[in-house]
Amino acid sequence: FKTFIQYVYDKHVILIKAAIIVFAVALVYNQDIRLLINEATADAQTSYILLIPILTAYLIYRKRKILSTVASLRSSLQDEVTGVAFGAFALTIYLAGSYTFHPLEYHILSIPIFLYGCILFLFNLETLKALVFPTTFLFLLTPLPFETLYTIGGIMANYSAEITFAIIKAFGLPATLTTNENIPEIVVQKADATLHFSIDVACSGIYSLLTFVAFSSFAAYILRGPIKKRIIAFFAGFPLIYALNIIRILIIILLGFSLGIELSTELFHTFGGWVLVFLGTLIILWGSEKLLKLRIYAHDLQPCPHSKTQKQVFCEACGRLLKTITAKISKRDISKITPLLLIISLIAFFQFPVFTLSKFPAEIILSSPIEGNKATQILPQINNYTLMFLFRDEAIEASTGQDANLRYAYFPNEMSKRPVEVYVEIADAKKKLHSWDKCFAASWRVTLYDSKEVQLIENPPLIAQSFAFQEKGSLAINVVVYWYEKSLFIVNSTVEEKFVKITLMSVIDDLSDRPAMEEEQLLPIAGEIVRYWQPVKQWSQIVLTFAKYRNELFTVMLISVVALISSRIARSYLNKKSLYHVYSKITSETDKQILKAASQTKIPTAEQIASTYQEISGKNMQLGELIEKLEQAEKAGLIKREVLNFEDNPLLVWRTAISIRKNAI
Ligand SMILES: [Zn+2]
Ligand SMILES: [Zn+2]
Repeated sequence: FKTFIQYVYDKHVILIKAAIIVFAVALVYNQDIRLLINEATADAQTSYILLIPILTAYLIYRKRKILSTVASLRSSLQDEVTGVAFGAFALTIYLAGSYTFHPLEYHILSIPIFLYGCILFLFNLETLKALVFPTTFLFLLTPLPFETLYTIGGIMANYSAEITFAIIKAFGLPATLTTNENIPEIVVQKADATLHFSIDVACSGIYSLLTFVAFSSFAAYILRGPIKKRIIAFFAGFPLIYALNIIRILIIILLGFSLGIELSTELFHTFGGWVLVFLGTLIILWGSEKLLKLRIYAHDLQPCPHSKTQKQVFCEACGRLLKTITAKISKRDISKITPLLLIISLIAFFQFPVFTLSKFPAEIILSSPIEGNKATQILPQINNYTLMFLFRDEAIEASTGQDANLRYAYFPNEMSKRPVEVYVEIADAKKKLHSWDKCFAASWRVTLYDSKEVQLIENPPLIAQSFAFQEKGSLAINVVVYWYEKSLFIVNSTVEEKFVKITLMSVIDDLSDRPAMEEEQLLPIAGEIVRYWQPVKQWSQIVLTFAKYRNELFTVMLISVVALISSRIARSYLNKKSLYHVYSKITSETDKQILKAASQTKIPTAEQIASTYQEISGKNMQLGELIEKLEQAEKAGLIKREVLNFEDNPLLVWRTAISIRKNAI
């Protein structure tokens, strides 16, 4: 315990800065993180998202030795400026994302970029290098849009069905492959019954695949060994998981065939996926160790054999860390932490809801039945229309887990206008609400006309999606406008926030009627409904002003991030060019050979350079003399002392600023 206290004392600066970064993310992204957890826990298939922060924490823990060293290094002004640019870039993505139909996705996407910025600003480039994988890993938190997911899933399901069918045919089972509403289906004949197994998107293993991407990249990263082999290990995982999924489908069919029942495929989808992923990850780890000779555990570094009287932090000969670096909080640190905390609290102060929060017009108590008078109070009466409550779809409520699924229609008084259908869906998670993307991606019987985003009200900005679709063989075209809100409801006498999705739908005969339908009927009705529901929170004027220039801000930040990075690259390129010139001016053959040796040593500690030097020149050199020569080269700018990440252990190396080929003169 005492050593723990000592550790905290030694590393207090690093720990304080790390805590500030965690605090900043929690403060800026607290709503998004809560929404993400809510969605991830709504079903088992996407619950892998919850594991990603845990895996990230482990990755950071594994790097504690190298991190505690590089994080104590000084930060340069260049790092700090780049850090500020990254942070501001992340915030503009956040703001611009709020004006799209997928605010949560864009917000989550900006978290890793925000982290890059914080790390560069408070620590330095070396720390970011050590943390680049754990932070980039967080991109996997971003939920993929359903459309993409279902397109890939649909293709995967088709091939899975064909392969499975070929295998059970080979087994001699009396089976046929058909499709049912575009979903492939394997039909097995038994003496007394016909069994149908539909290979749908959930069956395709798309969620297992996503979970697996997280696990296999994690596995490939923690393995020790050459990077090429680890990339092989990562990609070998994909055919593996696909094959395992086909085996899973085969097992369902064979079990169903021998037991004569259609097993609860629901159960198999939920648990089968996880079993698949763990099995796949274990096979990868095992196979990498046995076949690719990769290691899971790091080699232990032998302690420094050299004289202990050295006062340096690192041994100059073998590069080992000799004593812990203790840093005190500096004026520079304070002058960075203070404005950071100030800006973060300002952002928290002006924070706006991710989804427009509204108050339900009538006091609707969700735990009691919604009908009659109560039902019609949910939507406003609109001039020149008659509102009618059609019915409540309890079958859909039961199958999706929604709290309410209500159907209405606005009948126009003018004969020239068409009635507008309204669907009101209420649920505790966004994914429980009917998804149009999911619906269309799964069905090829529908032609989809271009969808676009429309802003319904200015403050708070509320973005709706509008599109048109036509069923194959039908003459009528459906025009749809829909949007999401969060609203307060009374459930069991407590107030709860729930997701609400409202869909307006009407019919036109020709695509050219779509603008008129949208502008004269759907959007005005949508506006009336949104106003009737009374948004609880408005955005502050300051945020709205920023938001007005969100696209310009985004462009400016993107350009400055790119400019800062490319100027760094350009400068190091020019620097190298001039160093080649310096190198060509060296007259001493020994000096040239030392530089050549350093350039060609993989882990260029003084010891290793000495042995390479011996190979190249056939001559021996005392370590002390070599280190002196290296220090001279350092003064000329040809060599830099650097902390190398050797299997997550810090090692002091002498890195040549330019690479010198073996046959160079
Ligand atoms: Zn040593
Ligand atoms: Zn649907």
